[in-house]
Amino acid sequence: MWIDTHCHLDAAEFDVDRDAVREAARQAGVTCCVIPAVQRAHWADVTQLAERHGDAYALGIHPLYVPQAQESDVLALDHALTQRRDDPRLVAVGEIGLDFFVPELCTPTMRERQWFFYTAQLKLAQKHGLPVILHVRRSADCLLKGLRQWPVVSGIAHAFNGSTQQAQAFLDRGFALGFGGALTYERSLQLRRLASELPPSALVLETDAPDIPPQWLYQTAEQRAMGAAQGRNSPVELPRIAQVLADLRDLSLTDLAAATSGNAQRVLPKLGAV
Ligand SMILES: [Zn+2]
Repeated sequence: MWIDTHCHLDAAEFDVDRDAVREAARQAGVTCCVIPAVQRAHWADVTQLAERHGDAYALGIHPLYVPQAQESDVLALDHALTQRRDDPRLVAVGEIGLDFFVPELCTPTMRERQWFFYTAQLKLAQKHGLPVILHVRRSADCLLKGLRQWPVVSGIAHAFNGSTQQAQAFLDRGFALGFGGALTYERSLQLRRLASELPPSALVLETDAPDIPPQWLYQTAEQRAMGAAQGRNSPVELPRIAQVLADLRDLSLTDLAAATSGNAQRVLPKLGAV
């Protein structure tokens, strides 16, 4: 049994075959996907998708969608979280966070705007007693600063790619770290070392589908110039990604599945009921 703790099944890339993709993942042993929303316009979609496939979801405003977000979306999120309080499938506030990689998001105005939406959503997670799913890109220290000011029950630092010290700081705050396709690249030396050295209780698995294709789906710039489309990641890849992590840690797939699924249920407690 596998849990894909981060899968954007609502993305347009899945419009042609969404149900088939979910079914294929189920056949491959992925019993549950957590679908984090990226903007207000998607909240209804992710809710319905999770319902339809027996999955879980999170509601939030993603940092890449901060430029077009309205301040009133925060109030709307508060309402939505209140309204769905008793929905067992609503497991977190997310995807929220800070992105200091995309140049347009790094201007002083945008950094401030990102901070506003991040901290406003941390406060909502506090208010509603929910964990958070964090987008971390060159922003781990800043995210941790927010968490120290507005501590939340637990959460996941998704697609984690920071230092050992930053990893430890998230673990100390009751978080797990999400690992996925990036692990499958042999050149990801630091990430692979981190994934093999962290305590087993730190790890959860994710695909971030349709993004972060594993090495076997990745098309190089040269291949793309020849007309190949970038490989679409999908939750069906989770067991094969897990195999890479199992090999790095010298673990059996069964043990890794048990550990990572247990961790996911610990940091997203409502998952236990899904
Ligand atoms: Zn994501």
